[in-house]
Amino acid sequence: MRNNIRLGKLFGIEVGLDYSWFIIFLLIVWSLAGHYLILRQSWSFAFRLGLALVTAVLFFASILAHEFGHSLVAIAKGVPVQRITLFIFGGIAQITREPKQALDEFLIAIAGPAVSLALAGGFGLVWLVGRQLDLRGLAELGSWLGLINLSLAIFNLIPGFPLDGGRVLRAIVWGVTGNMLRATRLVAIIGQGVAWLFIAAGIWQVFAGSWANGLWIAFIGWFLNNVAASSGQQAAWQELLQGHTAAEVMMTDCPRLPPDMSLAQLVNGAILSSGRRCFPVVDGERMVGLVTVHQVKDVPREVWPTTAVGQVMIPAAQLRSARPGEKLSVVLERMTNKGINQLPVMENGRLVGIVARNNILNAIRTLSELTSAP
Ligand SMILES: [Zn+2]
Repeated sequence: MRNNIRLGKLFGIEVGLDYSWFIIFLLIVWSLAGHYLILRQSWSFAFRLGLALVTAVLFFASILAHEFGHSLVAIAKGVPVQRITLFIFGGIAQITREPKQALDEFLIAIAGPAVSLALAGGFGLVWLVGRQLDLRGLAELGSWLGLINLSLAIFNLIPGFPLDGGRVLRAIVWGVTGNMLRATRLVAIIGQGVAWLFIAAGIWQVFAGSWANGLWIAFIGWFLNNVAASSGQQAAWQELLQGHTAAEVMMTDCPRLPPDMSLAQLVNGAILSSGRRCFPVVDGERMVGLVTVHQVKDVPREVWPTTAVGQVMIPAAQLRSARPGEKLSVVLERMTNKGINQLPVMENGRLVGIVARNNILNAIRTLSELTSAP
């Protein structure tokens, strides 16, 4: 998520606000101010607004605490967490990779709802104290936050991926069967089912007259469905790619270019005749960079004859690479995370081939044809 404002760092984790968060923040302040108006008509507008603001801030602090629950357990289990972002549907902790053991996954997943449940208890106490001391504002704030944290805990425990309950279920299935990818596919399917129930419930609410609520529920369902579907697909791909390495799909016949070749020569000579889209630039035996069709496109046609490939290539220092024996699923993940389409495959500092995202996608297509029933 790039559209966000950095708030700072806590426990070594960056905390940010996505721009979409402001929409939900304003909506919640507005609806809380209305909620407090219904409860106590004697309260002044300024008091209601102030109380609504404090409640909303504590609500988002509660969501952050939930995400920190996941994150701190993840870090304790050796899984790095990059950042926590608040966005329109709540919070998201960017946990950089899957935990190695089912038990770790279980603990990371359960930690968030456990924090929400503890907060529900804490705000319940605030409500009691407020009532005892006849501090009406404090009591209402405690009761709203206590109930909302309780609902957060319950909602997140619904056993469909990507909700926490889906992760808990995945950890259990993974622990029992020993197969993480298959467990992921299973909870992704359940997650899609849950998401469609949300969409259906949302549409039903729209027709029943409460269109704002209905749209909101349907929108959440749509979001959950997207995440569940893409996680399931990723797991299916990783399962297909199991046991296959970069060396099996890499291109070994990419034309190698000298750095002083012009772009005009490259296009007329190499691109058109070889049909390839990637070209390592070599100086003697040493690879100095990589040119793809992308770099050529960025240069105006008139200057192709006078521009050398060495001027437009991605320098070797900026390139990530793969090893020939590296697992294809790992290579694909690296490309996806870094948004790159080609990776040079290096062995002992020597270029042995290039693997393109398309090579891997073709392999997936072929493997799925080979494994699916006729
Ligand atoms: Zn959670």
